[in-house]
Amino acid sequence: MGCIDHKRTPLNEGDGFNAFDAMEPRLPEKTPVDRRNGKHVKANDIPPEGVYLPNNNILAPHMKSPEYVQLSNAAAITLGIMGGRMYGCECTRCLNLLLTYPEGCRANCAYCGLARHREAERDYADRNFIRVDWPAVPMTDIVDIVGKDPDNSPFHRMCISMITHPRSEEDTFAVLRQWTDRIDPQAIPVSILSNPTTMTRDDVQKCKDLGADIFTVALDAATPELFDRTRGKGVQSPHKWKKYWDTLLEAKDIFGPEKFGAHIIVGMGETEYEVLQLVQELVDLGGHSHMFCFFPEEGSLMDHLPATPRDQWRRVQLARYLIDYRGVRVDQMRFDEAGRVASYGISDAELNDVIDAGIAFRTSGCPGKFQDDISACDRPYGDSPPSDIASYPFPPKKKDLKKIRRQLDIPVSVE
Ligand code: SF4
Repeated sequence: MGCIDHKRTPLNEGDGFNAFDAMEPRLPEKTPVDRRNGKHVKANDIPPEGVYLPNNNILAPHMKSPEYVQLSNAAAITLGIMGGRMYGCECTRCLNLLLTYPEGCRANCAYCGLARHREAERDYADRNFIRVDWPAVPMTDIVDIVGKDPDNSPFHRMCISMITHPRSEEDTFAVLRQWTDRIDPQAIPVSILSNPTTMTRDDVQKCKDLGADIFTVALDAATPELFDRTRGKGVQSPHKWKKYWDTLLEAKDIFGPEKFGAHIIVGMGETEYEVLQLVQELVDLGGHSHMFCFFPEEGSLMDHLPATPRDQWRRVQLARYLIDYRGVRVDQMRFDEAGRVASYGISDAELNDVIDAGIAFRTSGCPGKFQDDISACDRPYGDSPPSDIASYPFPPKKKDLKKIRRQLDIPVSVE
């Protein structure tokens, strides 16, 4: 079996990968008392009216889940409640919903635009998250639109993203109930992107009982050390790796094989070997990994740091796809002294076929109705600008595949 080896440039710090030492987040600053806990918004108490578009330059109205949810720009355009077009895609296949409160998420994750420290400068409903704005919409409006014809909806899946908030569980259940009362989860299945910090095992079970199909844990950081630095003590945030892992194991028991997984952000300081070991561990448990490429979100505690170099991201994207969907094991792969993938453990011909199919480079996430390895959740430009795409929200075309091969340093021509 021949393997494609990478040509390597000499190892300089920060060359070809985001090293741990270079990826230190800023420390959060103190929030003025009059801005803490959404005080600013609650004091004005402007009642919400219909759809709220971020950056309206007014005080964010006092919107709360479960009556209100935020949804991605892509979902709002697809739903027809916002105008706009997305580069390369007509619509998104996943209706991503986010719980919303005037006091916002109470955690302080370093890479996240929704983090608590931002209350000093932006009202919660106006904060950017994974590079885009999230309009707030009454849940009844969403259910009314989708409920008219769920079988012919552009959406292949709905996903409720929890945040860190004392009402997060109860409101997730309420949103889920509101959905399944009107929309058959067989027609549009539901995923839960959980916030384990405030969840019990019973809460995980309840998500299943109320009709959720897949349960994922937003692990985000690939190692316990990185987790602590970006989501825990390092940034005055409440999360703990062990709690996240325990919840993932509960989801494995309750939801079963292929129905649970973890989100991972690549390029926050882990090595390629470390993140791919984690991917293997998830596959060995029966689950999947859903990956994001690190992008310095404006206003976050990591907005001064470099996005993941494309060569690092492509290697991990390709290797993750092989482990997740092609039965290749991490121990068949080879890594260099910096933990970078040096070969993928399959023949050149097989590797070329996988690259040319292009699926490995598309957004990863819970499946839609096309096939198991094509995610419904395409998160258009959630981890990169359209000018330098990290996760393709559409099937990569010939010119995209040529670019990907250059980034991978695998210069085989594409027919
Ligand atoms: S818990 Fe989630 S939403 Fe809240 S700051 Fe962390 S990553 Fe952002």
